[in-house]
Amino acid sequence: MKLEETKIEQLRGLLSKAKKVAIIPHKDPDGDAVGACMAWLEALQNNDYEVDVISPTYVPANLRWMKGYEKVIVFDENEKSVEQILNKADMFLFLDFNNISRTGNLSELLRTFKKKYSVLIDHHLDPDKDAADIVFSDISISSTCELCYEILTRVGFKISVNMAEALFAGIITDTGKLSYSSSHPEVYRVVADLIEKGINKEKIYHEIYENTKLDSIRLIGHALRNKLEVMGDTPVAFISLCKKELYQYNFQSGDTEDLVNVPLTIKGIVVSALFTQKKNGLIKISLRSKGNIPINEFAKKYFNGGGHYNAAGGEFYDKLENVIEIFKIKIKDFLKKYKI
Ligand code: 5GP
Ligand code: MN
Repeated sequence: MKLEETKIEQLRGLLSKAKKVAIIPHKDPDGDAVGACMAWLEALQNNDYEVDVISPTYVPANLRWMKGYEKVIVFDENEKSVEQILNKADMFLFLDFNNISRTGNLSELLRTFKKKYSVLIDHHLDPDKDAADIVFSDISISSTCELCYEILTRVGFKISVNMAEALFAGIITDTGKLSYSSSHPEVYRVVADLIEKGINKEKIYHEIYENTKLDSIRLIGHALRNKLEVMGDTPVAFISLCKKELYQYNFQSGDTEDLVNVPLTIKGIVVSALFTQKKNGLIKISLRSKGNIPINEFAKKYFNGGGHYNAAGGEFYDKLENVIEIFKIKIKDFLKKYKI
């Protein structure tokens, strides 16, 4: 991958002026977001920076093994102290998102700090070039963690075993365990480097993928047995889960992480959607597609969202049944443009 030397120089320049760094991932952070945060946390701490990690919402349980996790402060639960921390910070490091709005409730507060140094590192479509002083955005790269590995190395940070484990976690979670067709050869070279740092791959796979709560397995069972619908006349399947069902199975963010991918394994299905109703009534929509269907365009056009070509999401305020009805009509229409 080509990283312009001038940008790396700019980053070195900002880092030489900063002392207190606040690292911020997107809301509902995933493995890539948390992995990138933990890698930067350790890199900066090892070089005597004062560092805080502020997550808009809490970190899923299967990512809490990462070194540095205990430093994470969740904005939703600590609004006052987060405001103080952000006030004191002289640099913001935004990781794994393309627009400040992806930090949810934290975005309003972040927008009030216009004068801080800021850096954004991301791989999503449509980056907001004005979101930070320096924007590293590469939509062709597998993950923010892969990009962070390149940037950290080029800036001159030593990659420790803990940092390598966090970066590896981000890469495998954003590439379907390195299975996606979009994973270019370079990502395997980066993974090889990380393995050479002495990471414990088995531990990482175990922590991330064999850490499911019984309630969560039962929720997935319920969703697949009772809630999965295939739209008869289209290659589309979807699952919806209302507040009551989620409560019944003690739902926590991350519990349904892979659920939306399951309908895509049905023969002939090329689009899958998962609707989850949040406590405040907002409907979160997760979308997946196969092949040449740009589901991020669909998410952007109809559900205030975005994302990657084959994996996207969005949000909508309405009754769950209404959102499903809108989805059914719009997806049918949207797919007419594509050869399936
Ligand atoms: P997931 O379905 O796993 O929540 O999200 C898949 C991808 O879709 C994420 O990596 C992110 O890029 C994108 N995405 C999910 N929700 C939203 C949203 O509300 N807005 C935008 N812009 N992108 C989203
Ligand atoms: Mn990512």
